[in-house]
Amino acid sequence: MRSKINIAIDGHSSCGKGTLAKQLAEKLDYTFIDSGSMYRAVALYFLENQINCANETQVHSALSEIRLEFQKNQTTQRFEIFLNGKSVENRIRQMDVAAIVSEVAALSVVRKEMVRIQQELGADKGVVMDGRDIGTVVFPDAELKIFMTADVKVRAERRHKELVASGSDATLEEVTNNLTTRDRIDSNREDSPLTFTDAYRLLDNSHLSPNEQLEIALDWVHEASINDRIS
Ligand code: C5P
Repeated sequence: MRSKINIAIDGHSSCGKGTLAKQLAEKLDYTFIDSGSMYRAVALYFLENQINCANETQVHSALSEIRLEFQKNQTTQRFEIFLNGKSVENRIRQMDVAAIVSEVAALSVVRKEMVRIQQELGADKGVVMDGRDIGTVVFPDAELKIFMTADVKVRAERRHKELVASGSDATLEEVTNNLTTRDRIDSNREDSPLTFTDAYRLLDNSHLSPNEQLEIALDWVHEASINDRIS
């Protein structure tokens, strides 16, 4: 049996990182962890409790009240995020959360706590985790690191379609602005910015189908697993 590896997928907002991570996890029988859902759940708590990101005392006390868990949905067999005992998997995808999540995720106290939980989840390997700092900070030793991107127009159209399908009335322009603003904040923040390094394999999926991107990534998994056994 092949020994398990950790796979880190980082990249720009809404370029299908989660789709690829889910595909890989299913194919390899690995655990998929959506690290962005954790930052989104914290942002939802901040929103619902009117926590001001600039107020250190409020932020500290909010963090001490937040309990995050992943539970497997028995129908979909996928992990869903729970905030203080309640599933928030769908709620955190809405635009009001997207509008503030990057500001919340730029706070070092928040990142420190999320990274600690993420590292625990990946300690036994066999994890595919997507986010912005997985290959650089969370699993710097991940055997395979993939950096995903796609044309911003393609990304915004895909995301807008998903939101409309879930009942949102967000416009394409709002979605485009949100994606570009999040990318700017995520790439320029002081703590763990989204950064492309040559440790990553670059995957631009602007013109790839989900199956095509999966084939490419599976070849990389194969190579990474072989290299892991040799080293
Ligand atoms: O992946 P997703 O787009 O759901 O992430 C939402 C936001 O959470 C990102 O725009 C980013 O601000 C933050 N995030 C992060 N580090 C991660 C994952 C997400 O800062 N590892």
